[in-house]
Amino acid sequence: MRSHLLNDTTAEQYRRSVTDGVERVAAKLAATKRPFTGVTVDALVPRIERIDLDAPLHDTAAVLDELEEVYLRDAVYFHHPRYLAHLNCPVVIPAVLGEAVLSAVNSSLDTWDQSAGGTLIERRLIDWTTARIGLGPAADGVFTSGGTQSNLQALLLAREDSKTESLADLRIFASEVSHFSVKKSAKLLGLGPDAVVSVPVDRDKRMQTVALARELERCRKDGLVPMAVVATAGTTDFGSIDPLPGIAELCGQYDTWLHVDAAYGCGLLASLRYRDRIEGIERADSVTVDYHKSFFQPVSSSAVLVRDASTLRHATYHAEYLNPRRMVTERIPNQVDKSLQTTRRFDALKLWMTLRVMGADGIGELFDEVCELAAEGFGLLAADPRFDVVVEPTLSTLVFRYIPAAVTDPAEIDRANLYARGALFASGDAVVAGTKVGGRHYLKFTLLNPETTTADITAVLDLIAGHAEQYLGESLDRAS
Ligand SMILES: *Cc1c(COP(=O)(O)O)cnc(C)c1O
Repeated sequence: MRSHLLNDTTAEQYRRSVTDGVERVAAKLAATKRPFTGVTVDALVPRIERIDLDAPLHDTAAVLDELEEVYLRDAVYFHHPRYLAHLNCPVVIPAVLGEAVLSAVNSSLDTWDQSAGGTLIERRLIDWTTARIGLGPAADGVFTSGGTQSNLQALLLAREDSKTESLADLRIFASEVSHFSVKKSAKLLGLGPDAVVSVPVDRDKRMQTVALARELERCRKDGLVPMAVVATAGTTDFGSIDPLPGIAELCGQYDTWLHVDAAYGCGLLASLRYRDRIEGIERADSVTVDYHKSFFQPVSSSAVLVRDASTLRHATYHAEYLNPRRMVTERIPNQVDKSLQTTRRFDALKLWMTLRVMGADGIGELFDEVCELAAEGFGLLAADPRFDVVVEPTLSTLVFRYIPAAVTDPAEIDRANLYARGALFASGDAVVAGTKVGGRHYLKFTLLNPETTTADITAVLDLIAGHAEQYLGESLDRAS
């Protein structure tokens, strides 16, 4: 069994094993004609259930054959140009190489004595990111598992910064289309059930600063404490960017922490053409970025950045077995002092490899392409009488719904759109997402694949219309 441990004597075994796995995936990439096979839960459950986990095969090739059956054949493939659903990107090769290296070396980024250069690489990338944002010389941050964790940590710092005794008095202001992790964070941070004040958005799904001003004023009048404003730079559904300069102004006025959730919009930090769309982000106290959304990085790769490094002390705890206090005076760089996690992946290496091979412009170019594709897609949808499209995209999502000429009942239109999404998924021809707008069901394209073309968009729209029409036709038959 020792032959399975990765060490000096098993280098050849490691090389063969990983190469076999890479071969399978490479063959798969070349062969996938659709983003999904349409496999059902019922079909997949028994295939996985019947595997006896206490009866190992002792043969990597056989296990890879089995993996084909239980996973690879029916996985959802984000690299396919007709995967248009969630905020998942195709990944760049330098990052995947980084992933292979980091898991084999297996550095843990909690302490210097578990990572050495890894810690310094992560720190360089944090500095690189804060410089791109423009957070100033005192900025810092740390890699996290994702935007959810980044938002939680940012709000923890804001809570501590508010120096308030009564958690029930704290209020967080976020737009009605902000990410649900804001509410989850409030709960985890022990705030009251009314802690998150939902601020209305304008027609373009951007937070209304007038409404924010009103809510902040109300908060003050009620003797409550405005703990933080969460501005979203790229809402999950619409890609809309809240008016950052106006919000920053209000945060200054009310002495409130400004957190910018740029989990999605952070791709603009590398953009060659659209960087100005996130102007004002440099005024944040903290920022969430998800490299695994718009920097074409594999899951997970994310960071929380702060304007004032000293605020990270709220996440600092010392333990004799890990990071004793004396190490601070000895200037030993222990990233655990800044993180909610302890043992932590060296995700930063993926971004490092990406920047060293492709450069930031390479990433920015890819993100600009998908933003432009979304603009073209908007043109197609707006000109197509079969569809109603919600907002002109600032980033790369399109929210729309099929509206049949002959049907006016909104509930029936809802059902037709839901059916079309399900039928499309079951066919595996394309994968699209869905959401609700004004209480009605809509469909969503999240365009993060520069390989997707307007021809793909047109084809998928036709497929959606076809499925919806089929549903409505059968619905008529049922009625008569
Ligand atoms: C995706 C997203 C998050 C959560 O990020 P995860 O990496 O999925 O945890 C937070 N905020 C916004 C705006 C997002 O789009």
